[in-house]
Parts: sequence; C-alpha cells; structure tokens
Amino acid sequence: MSVSEAGRSPHQAVAGSGQRGLRVVHGGGGIDRGAARQAVSDLLVALGEDPAAEHLADTPRRVADAYAELLTPREFNLTTFPNEERYDELVLARDIPVQSVCQHHLLPFHGVAHVGYLPGDRILGLSKLARVVELFARGLQVQERLTRQVADWLQEHLAPQGVGVVVEAEHMCMTLRGVRAAGSRTVTSALQGLLREDARSRQEFFALAGLRG
Ligand SMILES: [Zn+2]
Repeated sequence: MSVSEAGRSPHQAVAGSGQRGLRVVHGGGGIDRGAARQAVSDLLVALGEDPAAEHLADTPRRVADAYAELLTPREFNLTTFPNEERYDELVLARDIPVQSVCQHHLLPFHGVAHVGYLPGDRILGLSKLARVVELFARGLQVQERLTRQVADWLQEHLAPQGVGVVVEAEHMCMTLRGVRAAGSRTVTSALQGLLREDARSRQEFFALAGLRG
C-alpha cells in the first residue's frame, strides 16, 4: 500500500500500525494563529475599522480560529476490508457535505459530493468516503481540483475498478458578490477506470448520483 502523497498535494498519508489501516493526516504547512490574528487586525484597519473597538476586540481571534478550522481536515484511519463476496456493483454515497474555501477570494463554498466506486479486491466503510472528501475540502481550493483529488486519491489507495466523484456547490464569491447569482450551483465531476471508459457504468453512476450521464 502506498504510504506517501509526496508531490501530489499538501496532504500526506502514512502507514498505520494495522496491516490494512492507513492513518491519514494533514501534512500542510501548519497555521500560525498568532500571525493570522495580527493579519486580521491589520485587515480591519485597512478596511477603515478600529480593531480596538469593543465589539471588534475579539474578532481577529475568532476569524483566525474560523479559518484554522476551515483549513484543517480531521485525521482518520482508512480501513479497508477484503471484498470476499466479490461484490462488483456500484457503491455510492450521496449528499456528502462539502465545506471548503475558495482560493481566489478566501470565501467559503459549500454543497454536496456524491462519491461512488466499483469495488476491486478491497472495499471500505462508507463513512470513509466522507472523510476523504473532507481531507481535500478543508483547504484553499478550487472545486475542479477538489473533485479530481478525491477521485485520484481513491483510485490510488483503494485500487477499485472505477471511481466517480460529483461535487455540487454554491460559491459565496459568486452568490454574494460579482455576478450575485444567488442559488446557482456549480457542478463538477471526475471519473476514473471503468466509470470513465464504460458508457453503461458511467450512466449508472450519474443516474444514481442524480445527474444525467
Ligand atoms: Zn472565489
């Protein structure tokens, strides 16, 4: 089993003690909360506000903590099980929550992901699909890359016959400002293996995900 994500993303996967467990930890550069608080304070000044005002006094800490939470995925164990029944139908988890931060505006985007795979030799707990989404969502992102990273990561670490990922998200930078397209959602998809190559598998995935293939 692969033990490193080197060169692919700031996220690292390291081998756990279990023979089929993979401890997945965030390997990013780390967040300097003190520096973030100071930067938020400076931003308030630049925006014409007085960070010493009573109602703003704790705002730099709150903002720094909020971004730290939004940019830090929780660690988890990627535990897989042998596919003893040779189950070869699509496994799909729908409506996995996605909360991320747009790297262009530092504003949130949020929505849902539908993640499916055609099992190979191993299967994994469905809750782990949500943790893989979080692993890549909790960072400065663009939706297209997030979608692709989830698909690529599962292909690499689970080695299924195919993987499909659909993300539907509303971007605050699109709905609150700019074009102010309130309620509009951006849909992205990434496919690997049989879901990419086989039209019937692909259509089944998009139908189960609630989209036309
Ligand atoms: Zn944006």
